[in-house]
Amino acid sequence: MDFNDTPEEAAFRAKARTWLDANAETMKPGDFSAGPLDERDDPASIQSAKKWQQKKADDGWACLTWPKEYGGQGATSIQNVIWNQEEARYKTPPNIYGIGLGMCGPTIMTHGTDAQRERWLPEMRMGQKVWCQLFSEPSAGSDLAGLRSTAVRDGDDWVINGQKIWTTGAQFCDWGILVVRSDATVAKHSGLTYFVVDMHSPGIEVRPITQINGGQGFNEVFFTDVRIPDAQRLSEIGNGWAVAITTLMNERASIGGGGGSSVHELIELARGIEVDGQSALEQSSVREKIATFYTRTKGLKLTGYRTLSAISQGKTPGPESSLGKLVGGRLTQEMAAFAMDLQGPAGALNDPSQLPQAAEWQDRYLSIPGLRIAGGTDEILRNIISERVLGLPPEARADKGIAFKDIPTGPPSN
Ligand SMILES: Cc1cc2nc3c(=O)[nH]c(=O)nc-3n(C[C@H](O)[C@H](O)[C@H](O)COP(=O)(O)OP(=O)(O)OC[C@H]3O[C@@H](n4cnc5c(N)ncnc54)[C@H](O)[C@@H]3O)c2cc1C
Repeated sequence: MDFNDTPEEAAFRAKARTWLDANAETMKPGDFSAGPLDERDDPASIQSAKKWQQKKADDGWACLTWPKEYGGQGATSIQNVIWNQEEARYKTPPNIYGIGLGMCGPTIMTHGTDAQRERWLPEMRMGQKVWCQLFSEPSAGSDLAGLRSTAVRDGDDWVINGQKIWTTGAQFCDWGILVVRSDATVAKHSGLTYFVVDMHSPGIEVRPITQINGGQGFNEVFFTDVRIPDAQRLSEIGNGWAVAITTLMNERASIGGGGGSSVHELIELARGIEVDGQSALEQSSVREKIATFYTRTKGLKLTGYRTLSAISQGKTPGPESSLGKLVGGRLTQEMAAFAMDLQGPAGALNDPSQLPQAAEWQDRYLSIPGLRIAGGTDEILRNIISERVLGLPPEARADKGIAFKDIPTGPPSN
């Protein structure tokens, strides 16, 4: 297996680097990239993210893999991977477009009408509008098809009632993709319909959820008699599950390549901490631990290269890419715990002005559990690996073929 760039890939990388050098500042050893939940709810960060996206779009670096007819560059998946690797080496605003560009855009391209594509894709590409994903509900996460929010047809509109939860970025989004139940008399996967909803519609109430790290990355979203024009329906009536699968496949693809944290950040931290009059790096137990993290990070990276090799050869990454998220999440959490231990009693604080590396390890320690749940929990990823990589027997599914309304839901509440 050859992990080196082909001459074409190397030329593309050099071109990307030249543009990034001219437009952004490079990260230095010990710098942290903006984490997925960092500062997303801060208006100044959102404005800087919008400017960055506009700049990329103006110079042909936005939506690389989108077809040219939708304003993309028609680039290959491996070129997109190279761009992401290069962009990650620079200080850039938090990415608020992952859901829109990575999931909503491709879904609209695949299932939308021409009018829907023209309406939503250009402003999405330029970063003018931000999108969110309204799928999960209090009783539907891993088992998404169990969702209970309803859509009832009324003339040219649909009337939506119910509740979504964990909706990332809903408090600053303009549009959302929404899956709701339009028919409870058929099996649970069959009665769903998929819409695009204007997040400024009357009847939508967004309530931010404060997380353990103090951020408000996601929200509860309540729908009370919200009207959506039928022109914003993206699926056939009752065929929303097929469209949702397109979105979820794109979500997996964008999350799957998780590489874990950089060991260099940990080395810089240990170098600056004094233990018994010496840098912590002089301690053999610290070096041993860091070397173990390095080995595991390298293993993860090389496993990730299998996915990259498949992409480079024009193949679709298989279920084995679930390994990246499963192993990377745990590894980052262990590294963060070690980094906090290294800081001694101060490790228990969470004050960016007082702690090394602006308390990023503390923030990671508190954020990673959420990322181990989002886009497929550890247990669900293990199910995928056991069933689809190792070929073990599938889970028993008791609700197969039963009308949704007849699926037992436990004793009625009074
Ligand atoms: C940071 C973050 C951002 C998110 N952003 C969004 C968003 O923008 N839009 C959106 O729609 N959703 C979003 N989510 C929701 C996310 O998709 C769900 O949290 C996730 O699918 C898990 O669903 P749940 O929380 O309902 O947990 P459940 O599915 O109820 O799971 C509870 C526990 O049971 C386990 N479990 C469930 N089923 C099985 C099984 N079959 N086998 C073994 N164990 C099982 C799970 O692993 C978990 O430990 C986000 C979540 C997080 C944490």
